[in-house]
This record gives sequence, C-alpha cells and structure tokens, in this order.
Amino acid sequence: KIYHYPSIGSTNDEAKKLAQNGAPHGTLVIAEEQTGGKGRLGRRWVSPPRKGIWLSIILRPSLEPYQAPRITMTCAVAAAKAIRKVTGIDCRIKWPNDLLVKGKKVAGILTEMSADMDSINFVVTGIGINVNNTNFPKEIIETATSLKLASGKNVDRLKILTEFLSQFEVVYRCLEDGEFGKVLEEWRQLSCNLGKRVRIIGRNYELEGLALDVDGNGALLVKTNEGTVERVLSGDVSLRE
Ligand code: ATP
Repeated sequence: KIYHYPSIGSTNDEAKKLAQNGAPHGTLVIAEEQTGGKGRLGRRWVSPPRKGIWLSIILRPSLEPYQAPRITMTCAVAAAKAIRKVTGIDCRIKWPNDLLVKGKKVAGILTEMSADMDSINFVVTGIGINVNNTNFPKEIIETATSLKLASGKNVDRLKILTEFLSQFEVVYRCLEDGEFGKVLEEWRQLSCNLGKRVRIIGRNYELEGLALDVDGNGALLVKTNEGTVERVLSGDVSLRE
C-alpha cells in the first residue's frame, strides 16, 4: 500500500504512526515535500516540494534488534545501485547513512526501530534523495548536491523511485534469505570510506585511524594510530575524512 502526500511533516513519523496502528510490512509513505524532514540526532533534512524523493518504508524484518543497521545498509546499497543505473553517476556510500557524489551528500537515510529486548516490532527506513534541487540553504550549500547538479540535466524522479524500489526488494530479499554476505560485499564495493583515513566524532570522544572494514551488523572497524582495532557503532557518531 502506498500513502502519497503533497506535503507532510516527516514521512518517518507518519510511517511510525501507521506501523503502530498495524500497517503491514512493505507499506510505503512518500511525500512531495517534508516540512519537518529529519536526519539522525534530530537534525533537519531539507526536503523542498517536488525536488527530491522523500519516502519511508515500513518493515517487519525477522532480525534481532542489534542487527537493525543491516536495514540502513540494505537501503544504501539499493539507492546507490538505482542512482548509478538510472544516471550513470558514480554514487558512493559514506558510512553509516549517507550517499555521496564527488564528496557531497546527495541522499541520507534514517532508520528507526520499535523493539523490545530480543525482537523487533517494526523498522521504518526513510531516505531522502536530492534529485532536481538546484538551490540549497546556505548551511549546506558546500556539502550538499543533487542528481541534477551532478549530471547537468533534469532527472526523472519516477525512474529513480521505481528503480530504487525494485533494487530494495532484491537486496532486502537477500537479507531475509540469510544471504546478507552478498549485500555486505556490495556495500564494500560502493563504499567511499574503506581503506581511507577517518575521524570519528562521538559525544565525548574522538578517534582517528584507518577504516578497515564494516562488519555484518554495520559497525565500522577502525585501526587507530595506536594500532588497536576499534569497532564503532553508528549510534551518535559523525564521520569526517
Ligand atoms: P554527519 O555528516 O555528521 O555524519 P549525518 O550524515 O548523520 O551527519 P544526518 O543527521 O543523517 O547527517 O542528516 C542531517 C544533516 O544533513 C543536516 O545536519 C545537514 O547538514 C545535512 N542536510 C540536511 N538536508 C540535506 C539535504 N537535502 N541534502 C544534503 N544534506 C542535507
């Protein structure tokens, strides 16, 4: 079932409400505009009318709660593949939840979960893809881009949307069929962080080192300057190159 709104506060919030009221696995919430689009840590996600794809999907996965970052990885792989296929643009995944083109953010993913200690009730995974944006607010003018800015031409939002949804279905099926290894391998191939130096900024700490790999539950493995390998969970950290 698809819920399509001309304008909404946040597709993730709407999807969470629908999920709480029993909306089934696979329900899609999509809006032409979000007036209160959100990134991680409650940060704002700029979502102007008809310029991008602002959507959320309700999922009821058979995963343990600690495995939920796999959903973000699934969504990132599906979106990067869709963008690459439709536009030919070299779109890359920045751990844990962004898609970049030439180092600038073209899409962001926000995965939220309702779970108890050992089982997931539902997951909502939201993605915002800047498709035909040409103007960004000044706070993100240096860091954001769109498919139109990257390709020099208008991009058909419907093509990106339908390709993303078909890719998502294929990649999600791997996750449910015990073949997450395949998704992980695609994630690695599409990543822009692995093998590079990174700086992780947490609430009370900073860590610098070499991004070695990502593990099956979405943690980044970083070899620090002291030679230890730290396993960084996406939680409330930011990554800088
Ligand atoms: P960090 O860059 O610190 O790792 P993040 O990638 O996790 O953060 P999110 O919280 O997921 O960022 O997204 C919100 C941030 O993304 C905002 O603070 C703003 O900097 C940036 N942003 C907001 N809207 C857009 C947009 N439409 N396109 C690109 N970037 C945006």
